[in-house]
Formats: sequence, C-alpha cells, structure tokens
Amino acid sequence: MADAENSPERARGAAEARRLPRGDALLAAADREGFVARLGHAPVMALVRAELDARRDAILAGAPCPPAGEIEAALLARLAEAGGGTLHRVVNATGVVIHTNLGRAPLSAATVAAMAAAAGYLDLEYDLGAGARGDRTRHAEEALVRLTGAEAAVAVNNGAAAVLLALAALGEALPSGGAPPDGPPEVIVSRGQLVEIGGGFRIPDVLRRSGAILVEVGTTNRTYLRDVEEAIGPRTRAILTVHRSNFRQEGFVTEPALGALVELGRRRDLWVVDDLGSGTLLPTAPWGLAAEPTVGERIRAGADLVTFSGDKLLGGPQAGILAGRRAAVERVRRHPLLRALRLDKVTLAGLAATLAHYERGDALGEIPVWRAISRPLAALEAEALGWLEALGRPAGARVRPSTSAIGGGALPGETLPTAVLALAGASPDALLGRLRRAAPPVVGRIEDGEVVLDPRTVLPGEAGALLAAGRGALAGAPPGPSGAAPAQAQGTKR
Ligand SMILES: *Cc1c(COP(=O)(O)O)cnc(C)c1O
Repeated sequence: MADAENSPERARGAAEARRLPRGDALLAAADREGFVARLGHAPVMALVRAELDARRDAILAGAPCPPAGEIEAALLARLAEAGGGTLHRVVNATGVVIHTNLGRAPLSAATVAAMAAAAGYLDLEYDLGAGARGDRTRHAEEALVRLTGAEAAVAVNNGAAAVLLALAALGEALPSGGAPPDGPPEVIVSRGQLVEIGGGFRIPDVLRRSGAILVEVGTTNRTYLRDVEEAIGPRTRAILTVHRSNFRQEGFVTEPALGALVELGRRRDLWVVDDLGSGTLLPTAPWGLAAEPTVGERIRAGADLVTFSGDKLLGGPQAGILAGRRAAVERVRRHPLLRALRLDKVTLAGLAATLAHYERGDALGEIPVWRAISRPLAALEAEALGWLEALGRPAGARVRPSTSAIGGGALPGETLPTAVLALAGASPDALLGRLRRAAPPVVGRIEDGEVVLDPRTVLPGEAGALLAAGRGALAGAPPGPSGAAPAQAQGTKR
C-alpha cells in the first residue's frame, strides 16, 4: 500500500491533475453561455464539480489531462442536457401498448386539455350552487358508477393504494355492521394469487401493511371453495382475490369463481375484495385477445370492492379506483388513509375526461391505448410501408409481420398481429442505441437480429420524428437537437 502511494505513477497523476482548469473558470464559461441564469448557481456548480471529479479520477487512473477547451466543451454539453431535465418525451416504437417504463398509458387530447385547464383555481372542493364547501371525491364518482354498474366509487393515487385502502378500511368492520372481534383481522387469499405485480408490489406485503394477517389457502395451482370455507375463523374479515396480471397458469389449475366466493362471504359475514389490476371497461375479445373480465362483470358478480388502475387498460392518468357496494365505499371514504392517498386536482380532471370518452362512446378512437389495440392490421402495414418508402428503402430494410403486446400487467402472453419496419445492420444494438439518442428518442426493440419499429404504439403526429431518427441512425449518427452539435450530445450521455 505504502509503495503504491509513493510510486512515481502516483506523483505523475497528482502533477497531471493540477493542470485541470479551476472550478471558477468553468463556472465563468457556463455563465457566459447563460446556464447560470437558466438553471441556477447551485445546479451548475454541482455539474462543474462532477465534471472535474470525473476528470481527476481518470487522470489518477493513468489518463493524460485533456486540454482545457475539451473539458469546457464537455461541461457545456452536460449543462445543455441537464437543461432538458431528466424526463424526455420518447417515441414508443416497441409495440408494447402499456409500457410501464415509458409511462404506461399515453393520454387522450381531451384528457390533456382537461388537465391543463385544471391547473388554476377550480371548484375542486367547492359547491358553486350553494357557495359552500363541496366534496372532491364526487368528481369522477358519477361516471364511474354509470360505467361500472357499481353503487359507489372513489379514486385514489394508484392501484396499489386502492388495494391497501380497501383492506385497511374493511378490516375495521364487518359487513353486517356488527362489532368485529378484538385482534388483527385475517384476510384469506388463494396461494395461486399471492403474486408480485412488479415494482416491489407484493400482495403479502401490502396485506401486512394494511394491518391484516394473511391466511393462505389451497395450493399454487388448485384452490377449492371448501379450502376457503375451512379457513374461515372468528377473526376472518375478508376474502381477497387477485388478478395474476403478469403471468399465466395453465394445465391442472382451478380456483373458485368470484360469484361463489361472494355467496360464501354473504353467508359468513365477510367482505369480498377483488384486485382486478388493469381493469378494462371494454371487452378485449373483439380484438382477438383473451377475454379479460371487465370491471362491470366483477361488480355484477357481487364483489364488495373491485380495485383497478387508471393508467392501464383504462387508458387514463395514474390513479387507483375502488368501485363496489355503497357500504364498502363509504368505509373507504371515511378512512384516514384516504387523505394520504387521494388524487390531486390535475389527475382528477384527467381521469374525469378519460371516463367521458367511454360515456360518449368514442374511447376506441380517442383513448390512445384503445386506438392502439383496435388499429387494423392493414393500417399498420400501410404505415410501416410508408416509413420504408420515406426512408428511401435502405439496404436490408423491409416490412414484415410481427406481434405487439399489451403490457402493463394486462393480458400476459397475449399478442396482437402487427407489421413492423425491420432495419438490418451490422450491429442492431448500436442502431437501437443511436435511435435512443435521437431527439426525441425513439425506443424500438430487437427481434431475430433486426431492429424492429412497430407502428401500433407510435402516436399520430410522431412519424416525422421517427423518420428523422431513423435517417440519422442509419447514417451512423444520432441527429442532434436542432442547433446542438451531435458530438456534444453524444459525449454527455450518462
Ligand atoms: C398493476 C396492479 C396493481 C397495482 O396498480 P398500480 O396502479 O400500478 O399501483 C395491483 N394489483 C394488480 C393485480 C395489478 O395488476
């Protein structure tokens, strides 16, 4: 150790590092370019330090000190990228309709307009007729009730919050209204439904956080009604069913129907909660997909509460909806956790606008998720062929059949036939990377050694950006944002 510290190599590194430009010289350069005024002093200084630290580390590891101009240029590129923030609009050409990493459901134009309109003051908790305090939870409720057939509904922050709240609120009471026994409530779940949805959302963990004790019944593949019935004890408060969402069970499998569990729940004074996950309002079978149970079907089967997400197959902003019987929804409304998990005004406005599409009957055309699902193969083929032409039929490029996926924990393994633009190249990974570094970035995927771009998930108006990125990527360089040198943009990719 002592040897290494006193080595000539170490001395060389230290001498070389002293040739690095001073922080205030770099700060002055950033200020001249207007970055201090645009971003603020502290964020610029943090990037100056990050740049210098990275250079110092490289020099101490043996690299020579680059010229000051090069370091300054790299810093300015870093600042230019930071000025764009960390969230970037991207073109989704993956063909995965509800892509959780890409922000799940893109919003309809009417939804975006409603969210923008809600940015100022509004009658969120104000009754304009009476000039008195109103209730914020009423805004989406009436539409949800009409669309699902539920007696009542309430929307919260996301699907996970809806499940947590359902279990916490119902754990405190019996459906009959009688006094529940002392001690933590027990909730019965089939072993085949103790799933992890992703992002750390595990049903057993959520149950525990709700204050309930999990009672597992049945086996991974088979659970019978009698398994559930035999597990009912004096402290049992609810039966929970969970949509498997992101995987399928096939073969020797069985589980009780929701209707049978509801009948059992009524007989034994237990709540029945159905975590439906994606929760579609429209049937999926007409598009060649497996029949996903609709929210309405689960409500009709009699569940006390059905929970589902706002930004999966509903196609709206992030939200979690609890719909069901009035007594159960009232318990949720009165629970203190609702205050912590409630929706903000902008999301509430967006949810209401998305629901309005279903009420007007224009969801298939206007809600991007449903437009993507319902697009005919011929239209997708025509769009991909149009791209191929617009790119000038590059060598090895072609349109070929492929499949799109639903994603977002909806319809696992189910696909829709599509037509993709396939781009051949020496290195598909490099080509895909260049598409990702375009402005706006284009996200595609690799299939059979080719980069494929699926028109299904490319939104109206995005084809121009996709083609510009495609041209640049095929030419070997990412097209820089207008006015910025591509080399700079590349050098700062972190
Ligand atoms: C997606 C999902 C959730 C969580 O919903 P978020 O809106 O992502 O919080 C819960 N349960 C199931 C079955 C799901 O599929």
